[in-house]
Amino acid sequence: MSMSLVRGDHLLEGFAADDTPILHRDAAALIADGTVVEIGDAAALHARHPRAERLGGPGHVVMPGLVNSHHHVGFTPLQLGSPDHPLELWFASRLGLRDVDLRLDTLFSAFEMIASGVTTVQHLHSRAPGGIEDVLSAARHVIGAYREIGMRASYSMALRDQNRLVYEDDAAFVARLPVELRPEMTAYFARFTLPLADQVRILETLRDELAGETRLRLQIAPANLHWLSDAALATAAELSARTNLPMHMHLLETPYQKAYATKRTGGSALAHVHRFGLTGPLLTIGHGTWMSEADIELCATTGTHVCHNCSSNFRLKSGLAPVNRFLARGIRVALGMDEAGINDDRDMLQEMRLALRAHREPGIDAPHPSPATILRMATEHGAATTPFGAQIGRLAPGSAADLVMLDWRDVTYPYQNADIPLVDVLVQRARSSAVKSVMVGGEIIYRDGRFTRIDRDAILAEIHARFAAAPSAAEARRREFARALFPHVRRFYDGYLDGLDDAPHARSSGRF
Ligand SMILES: [Zn+2]
Repeated sequence: MSMSLVRGDHLLEGFAADDTPILHRDAAALIADGTVVEIGDAAALHARHPRAERLGGPGHVVMPGLVNSHHHVGFTPLQLGSPDHPLELWFASRLGLRDVDLRLDTLFSAFEMIASGVTTVQHLHSRAPGGIEDVLSAARHVIGAYREIGMRASYSMALRDQNRLVYEDDAAFVARLPVELRPEMTAYFARFTLPLADQVRILETLRDELAGETRLRLQIAPANLHWLSDAALATAAELSARTNLPMHMHLLETPYQKAYATKRTGGSALAHVHRFGLTGPLLTIGHGTWMSEADIELCATTGTHVCHNCSSNFRLKSGLAPVNRFLARGIRVALGMDEAGINDDRDMLQEMRLALRAHREPGIDAPHPSPATILRMATEHGAATTPFGAQIGRLAPGSAADLVMLDWRDVTYPYQNADIPLVDVLVQRARSSAVKSVMVGGEIIYRDGRFTRIDRDAILAEIHARFAAAPSAAEARRREFARALFPHVRRFYDGYLDGLDDAPHARSSGRF
């Protein structure tokens, strides 16, 4: 049995029901075969387990690994050539991006996540072209990269059976286009069209392939209301009920999605998916930016989670999610970085600070999340949206040993007044430079700026070399096509929000 003792001046076990941090002073975690066995006094544990490997030590603060609960890609769209358009136009501009090697792509953002203390990622693979074998191959490249670097990942391939570019039927959209653009648009849709039954088979195949893995699990991702027919919604609900796998569904990300739901259902997107039995503790709503009070109530009463993607909402002009109202109703809110954070990277420490600041409503008595609430969102609540659940997100006996050792001097140098609670300092001051070591399942995968299993510099050099090559003919043609298509996508949304009660242009004040 491999045993280790991770010691810190302070060890954060997790949070009490009211978000109060549970901190242990001069403590250590005893870890055996990847699992936390005991949390206790460091000296006493050292005396009882003299042969256990010693990690951390004085000057360290130990906390549970962070969970990035909403992630899609490695290289960011901005890196690959798409500016931050409003979401609906961004879908169009992204059609012109270069091809990527999925292993390198996945490793690239895994480097960034792990270096900022993320031990678990919810990877939502949005789409892959081709038939069953092509899609499976794409999934295996992503999953394989996480296996290679040692990160814990919950993987999903989005379920989607309609409206692949704008919020209407593919054939109807093709008919709006000039004749010369139609063949390429039709071919694009064909490349990404797979019967629902095949998509279910892919999911079941991957689930079986991951059955023996401890750090890799599968999740279901009904992509979003506009992307799923009612038949597909029913399929997702049936699949989750049959497999007991959790689901992560984008919903109400933008006002256009709210308007779409009204046009399609006469009511709310959430109420519609609720009718199919999708709501409940197995469902996480990605974004939920445009949830109404009734939607928030429905989330709360059904135990549905929300994943807040703060940077993404800012970058794609989606709006400010009513996070304080989610929290006030007791909804468990996770944090996700979506395509990329505010610095165009995957720095979870930065994302926590952004979420902390973005929801400070004006007014002395107005609500705002505390640093402890934010850290709980980035650990325990994020964990609850993944198939790993309570196994991660805390450091208690029985938890997986997923943890971060922070160099507290790096956090506080040259000075920090001791009246400020430790978690408040951690959330507001810790940079990725303070992330000393990252452990997943009892194994150190990152230490002193280096990845233990993989040479980051070599991978970055490989990425650099690949992109140094000129775009292929197919890439260049796709870029031209995306440019030609863009104004037609934009025109589709002209007037789309007319009649929506709380459309952004109808508002006089900010939304919280
Ligand atoms: Zn997303």
